[in-house]
Amino acid sequence: MSPAKEIVIEGLGVSSGIAIGEVHVRESGAILVPEYTVKGAKIEAECTRLEDALKVAQRQIGRLKTKARNLPPAAAEEMGLLLEAYEQMLEDSRLVRGAFRRIREDKINAEFAVQAEINEITRGFAALDDSYIAARMDDIREVADRLIRALTQSHVKPLNTVPKGSIIISEDMTPADTAQLNPKKVLGFATVLGGAQGHTAIMARALGLPAVLGAPGLLGAVKTGDTIVVDGNQGRIVINPKPSTLAAFEAKQSAHRKRLGRLARLRRQPSVTRDGTEISLGCNVELPIEMPGVLDTGASNIGLLRSEFMFMNRDDVPSEDEQYKTLRDIVKAMNGRTVTIRTLDIGGEKLAQSITQDIGESAQSALGLRGIRLSLKKSNLLEDQLTAILRAGAHGPVRILLPMVATQQEVRKTRDVLKKLVRKLKRKKVKIADPIPPVGVMIEVPSAALTADALASVSDFFAVGSNDLTMYTMAVDRTDEQVAGLYNPLHPSVLRLIQFTTEAALRARIPISVCGEMAGDPRFTALLLGIGIRELSMSAHALGPVKQRVREIDLAAAQNRATVIMGQTDSGRIAMLLDDFNTLV
Ligand code: PEP
Ligand code: MG
Repeated sequence: MSPAKEIVIEGLGVSSGIAIGEVHVRESGAILVPEYTVKGAKIEAECTRLEDALKVAQRQIGRLKTKARNLPPAAAEEMGLLLEAYEQMLEDSRLVRGAFRRIREDKINAEFAVQAEINEITRGFAALDDSYIAARMDDIREVADRLIRALTQSHVKPLNTVPKGSIIISEDMTPADTAQLNPKKVLGFATVLGGAQGHTAIMARALGLPAVLGAPGLLGAVKTGDTIVVDGNQGRIVINPKPSTLAAFEAKQSAHRKRLGRLARLRRQPSVTRDGTEISLGCNVELPIEMPGVLDTGASNIGLLRSEFMFMNRDDVPSEDEQYKTLRDIVKAMNGRTVTIRTLDIGGEKLAQSITQDIGESAQSALGLRGIRLSLKKSNLLEDQLTAILRAGAHGPVRILLPMVATQQEVRKTRDVLKKLVRKLKRKKVKIADPIPPVGVMIEVPSAALTADALASVSDFFAVGSNDLTMYTMAVDRTDEQVAGLYNPLHPSVLRLIQFTTEAALRARIPISVCGEMAGDPRFTALLLGIGIRELSMSAHALGPVKQRVREIDLAAAQNRATVIMGQTDSGRIAMLLDDFNTLV
């Protein structure tokens, strides 16, 4: 048998490193479909759920269609036709009409209605022993599965059971899916959809897993068991590599590991610029599994604890006590170093079914009910979370960070809730943080940046979320690979907002840090220091490279270059001035 042909596919390299392993294709497995009856007014609401799921599925197919255009012409045509057929089925088909009818007549939930309809269609055709019909049946089933997944918001088979040494290949991965990956078993992953700045990419970097997202044609080119290389540095995937290709990647992999080893040795070196200015380097934490890595880096704090992990991949909301215990363990592990705990930032691409199921599309929208807006609306959720943080603060220093703040009012309201809780807990003699933890805001919405002086008057500190700030300022969805080229934190608009915020914080004498992905990229270090930032927080893997960069920088030179850069209006020229400075100093 001749060896399988080597195939190279390009995508977005979102998490560095090179993984070489065996493909594990994530198939859409059997989905557990809940069954229940719906009555009276709830029937129309159930039809609306199905309509919403149809829209989600249509959007997914739309994105796959655009991706398919990048395939070689013959494959693009074939894939295009197939996806068009799926699209038609989602618009009007026996499946869709039948599902609506069953909700209304049989008074059953939408996913069960889709399931019942597909079962009946399948039974009708199964008797015909015809390969063409069998292929069409597979297509209808694929559409039905997609709909059921959108309705249950469940994805495909759990990822925590894949064999050791696997590289996961999937159409898409949500941040919640990524959170399930066990880096002891999974070596890396690659997907057809996904942008470089979304939380899936952030999670991959946090777990230290090489990853390539947004790779068209990937699913059609691999099968489980193939040998594959995922090069997260170059954004390249090689399926069935030739021996010479494999040897070249193995050499790159070993060079990458050696470099990481060298950087790890910086752990004990102070984070100071050449002229002796101390720069605080903290870690961002997405999952408790990262804690050993965080402690290894010698980070001076956790500058951003994304609390979403406690709410993902489960059907219920964690109790206040459960949240307290999880937070307490992290606070204790940091042994006196501050942990900045962000309240829940669910919404957008980060969904937790137990919280967002009754919110519908608004929770999925980047402009919808998310972050602090959601917490203020669901007062029990906010109260439980603030109580858990206050209690965890009895074990070490913590700060409270509010996400997606757009107005002063949101901060005031949260502070009122906090004050009320403190009084209650003190009355009940519950041990809580003393003094009350500082309350800060993420600056990640242009309205917050533009009113940074007003927000500074109600906040104890700022944390610049450059990821969302870039997204909202440029009107570019972080997760959409099609506009990834427009996502640019070096655009003067983004830089001016960061500078404006920094100046407001310095005037108000409140601490300010940057905790978006810019903070973890040594390319931006000199610029951020040059405009006045002295605190950065990043994924544990980025700390070594950023510390190395900090130690090379002369602050006066960085300030001069920042002044020149901030006078520019063209992002290309800004990039050139920055890269030029980085090669010199
Ligand atoms: C940001 O937006 O920069 C940020 C740090 O928050 P997240 O990435 O969790 O949205
Ligand atoms: Mg954000």
